[in-house]
Amino acid sequence: MGKEIYKTNEEIELIRESSLLVAKTHGAIAGLVKPGVTTLELDKIAEEYIRDNNAVPAFKGYGGFPNTLCMSPNEEVVHGIPNQKPLKEGDIISVDCGVLKNDFYGDSAYTYTVGEVAEETKQLLKVTKESLYDAIDQARVGNRLGDVSYAVQSKAKEYNYGVVRELVGHGVGRSLHEEPKVPNYGYRGRGIQLKEGLVLAIEPMINMGTQKVRFLRDGWSVVTQDGKPSAHFEHTVAIMKSGPKVLSSFAFIEEELKKNGIEIL
Ligand code: MG
Ligand code: MG
Repeated sequence: MGKEIYKTNEEIELIRESSLLVAKTHGAIAGLVKPGVTTLELDKIAEEYIRDNNAVPAFKGYGGFPNTLCMSPNEEVVHGIPNQKPLKEGDIISVDCGVLKNDFYGDSAYTYTVGEVAEETKQLLKVTKESLYDAIDQARVGNRLGDVSYAVQSKAKEYNYGVVRELVGHGVGRSLHEEPKVPNYGYRGRGIQLKEGLVLAIEPMINMGTQKVRFLRDGWSVVTQDGKPSAHFEHTVAIMKSGPKVLSSFAFIEEELKKNGIEIL
C-alpha cells in the first residue's frame, strides 16, 4: 500500500486512536513535571504507559533517537534527549510524544511549566498555544496550506517572537513524517489546496528572541542561537468536510495540571 496523503474515515479513526494514546501518555506524566524530576524518569513512565497500551513509542529508534519522548527544556527548541538532570523551578519543558498503533502514528507536543515561571515566559507559551489553534482553524477544505502557516506566523509576529524555519510540521499516517511539510511561516493563499482526508501534525515552534537556531553536536538537540526560551505545541489534525478535527488532545494534560494546582496557560 502506498503512502497516500489523503486518508479514509477508517484510517482517520485509527490515527485518532493513536493520537488519543499520545494524549493520555502526556496525561500520565503531566502531574509529575515538577522541580526535581528528571526527564529520563518521565521518559520511562511514558514508554511503559505506551507499551502497556499495546503500542510502540514512535520516536524510539527513529533515525537512531534513543528515547520515547523528545524533551527540550528552556532554550532547546525540539528533539532534546531525556537525561538525568533534574528539572528546576522556573524551567519550561517541551515534551513531544508519538506512538505507533495499528500501523498508524499519532503525534502531539506540549510545553510544560516547572514550578513558578517568569511572566514573559508564560506569555510565550500562551501565545504559541494560541498560534496552534489559530492554525488549526485554517485547516479547512478549500483553504491553502499557506493559510495554516500564515496563521502561526502572524500570531507570533504580533509579539515580536521568532518563528523557527528549519523545522516544520508534517503529514501523519502510516509514516510519522509524510508530505506535505507544514511550515510555521508562509503566505496566505499559497501552497497546496487542503482537501478532505488530509491529516497534519501542526506544530508551532516559537522563540522569545531570534528565530535562529543551532544544532547541537549530540546530533539531535536544536537550541535558540540567543539562548532565550522556545515553546512548542503540536496537535494531529484531520481535515474533514465538517471542518478541522483535532485527533490529539490536551484535555488529559490540563486535567492533571488542574488537579495539581498548576496554572493552565
Ligand atoms: Mg511531535
Ligand atoms: Mg510532529
